[in-house]
Amino acid sequence: MYRRFTALCLLLLPCISSAANLQIQTWYGGAKGAHTIAHDDYCSSVTTGIEQNAIPILNQRGLKASLGLIAGSCSDAQWQTLKTRIKQGHELFNHTLTHRGMLEPGSLAPISGWDNVKEIVSAQQLVQSKLGYTMHFVAFPSDLATPEAKAFVEALPDTLGVRAAKHLYDGKAAGINEADDVQPMFVKWDSYWRDGKWSLYKPNRGNILIQHAQAAIDDGVWTYSTMHGVADASWESVPVDQYTAYADFLAAKVKSGELWVAGPSDILRYQMTRQFCGIQLNGDTIKADLSDWRCSRYASAVTVDIKLTDQQQGVFTQQGKPLVSQMLDKKTARLAYNPKLGEVKIN
Ligand SMILES: [Zn+2]
Repeated sequence: MYRRFTALCLLLLPCISSAANLQIQTWYGGAKGAHTIAHDDYCSSVTTGIEQNAIPILNQRGLKASLGLIAGSCSDAQWQTLKTRIKQGHELFNHTLTHRGMLEPGSLAPISGWDNVKEIVSAQQLVQSKLGYTMHFVAFPSDLATPEAKAFVEALPDTLGVRAAKHLYDGKAAGINEADDVQPMFVKWDSYWRDGKWSLYKPNRGNILIQHAQAAIDDGVWTYSTMHGVADASWESVPVDQYTAYADFLAAKVKSGELWVAGPSDILRYQMTRQFCGIQLNGDTIKADLSDWRCSRYASAVTVDIKLTDQQQGVFTQQGKPLVSQMLDKKTARLAYNPKLGEVKIN
């Protein structure tokens, strides 16, 4: 018995003592959950409320949206505006060139004329030529896609994520994304409906958008809200009072540190880095293993908490350069560690 115990200690202690000193937060900044604000059909003639109402409400509160472009419909003035939106930190995603679908909503009858190269690749090229920006996330029109179109989009080198095609077609429920089981090519979402039809939530229980954001905090997950316009002629347009209450809620939860609000690419980068970069503390060094393709493709900064030893002062350097950190208490430092930028030395 004693011998077995000793052997176990020898085996386990080194792991326990090093693992106990480094903790990667599940969500950026130690938030309890993550949330995405998405507006589809940007540049269509009916989603004018995205610019007129949504963006000013978000900008006033420091919140970032992700905007799904129908790239072939954008005017010169809209391209100019989008340059500003990129500078402000909003994400743009690929919602095709013309918004021609490939399957009819409801009947799922094929729509003729869908062309992967035209709708997906040409849209990306147009955005790159107009804005010098590469979109990393794709949402299909009506969130319906054939297996062929899905495979085509997933194989493109720029694609970090794809919004889940509807449960009608995939046989899987749309909904929430578990932290340890995020599927980059099947990101689940909830759509705004005034009467709650097809949503996970019902309006008689309060604001549908707030319920979805609250679920991220309560369940420690990533929730993604799909909307079209705000107070305009678009499909299931969000009334401005509901949108304002939602933005106020998000801003308060960001301020309290409970919620991380970001675009899908940032959230996918974070989760893939956290799970597949083999981040560990080795003596006075934070190391990672970039050999997994998911790590090399997605690696970005993650929030790491380090319990300092009595010998360590809490000074961090990466490739000889000082790294900013914050003391959470006398012995715990928090920093943003990007494995792509090399090992971190702790002094
Ligand atoms: Zn759309």
